[in-house]
Amino acid sequence: MPTRKDRRPVVAGNWKMHKTAAEAQALARELRNALGVVRDQVEVVLAPPFTALYPVGKALEDSNLYLAAQNCHAEAQGAFTGEVSAPMLKDVGCRYVILGHSERRQLFGETDEGVNRKVKAVFAAGLLPIVCVGETLQEREGGRTLEVVSRQLAGGLAGLDAAAAARAVIAYEPVWAIGTGKTATSAQAQEVHAHIRGWVAQAFGKEVAAAVRIQYGGSVKPDNAAELLGQPDVDGALVGGASLKAADFAAIVKAAFA
Ligand code: PEP
Repeated sequence: MPTRKDRRPVVAGNWKMHKTAAEAQALARELRNALGVVRDQVEVVLAPPFTALYPVGKALEDSNLYLAAQNCHAEAQGAFTGEVSAPMLKDVGCRYVILGHSERRQLFGETDEGVNRKVKAVFAAGLLPIVCVGETLQEREGGRTLEVVSRQLAGGLAGLDAAAAARAVIAYEPVWAIGTGKTATSAQAQEVHAHIRGWVAQAFGKEVAAAVRIQYGGSVKPDNAAELLGQPDVDGALVGGASLKAADFAAIVKAAFA
């Protein structure tokens, strides 16, 4: 059965709505140069905005860094003005799609059911989802963190078979820690990550739980990355703000195998 040592950490940079195509390509080149050495130790994923996917994909060609999108539509094609489908993302070289990010849930009304449709579309296109879950401050203070995370997992991963579940990446991102400079303590992160792994064991079996990778996200920075990533059930990070600076993101990636 896979253990922490067998799960290759996955560190992803969510660039959100930042950077022109040219700026994004330059950052990708810088990261490619800085991180060429991490080939086997850490999986590195860059998620630029849609308009920069193609040029960033070109900059990453023949490298060991992977491309991700920040969202997609659940249908493969059709009359959905302004949307982008999973097969289109595959076509420009993506391997991952971030789904259910709290900004999408809070600002764009995404539901667990909608996330689930997208998760299935992503697998159908031959891509892998990074499924985000996490509680608000009010939910944490109300003692509802584990219940909220369980509900988001049950909704988002509904109907998957064990093989798919094992290949999904789950990102635990407490909403109160995203972009706020407040980080969960390593004990808080570990508690929820262990709960998520336990939930996966119940839903998909122990083998899947031992294999699935669970990222922590929420104000991860070079100075807190080693402590968070050192927890037994933390298998990488989803990084927002600090992923926009090559030196900071490279330092976080290196903390994943230090
Ligand atoms: C995120 O957007 O997924 C995130 C974790 O952002 P930040 O690192 O800026 O908190």
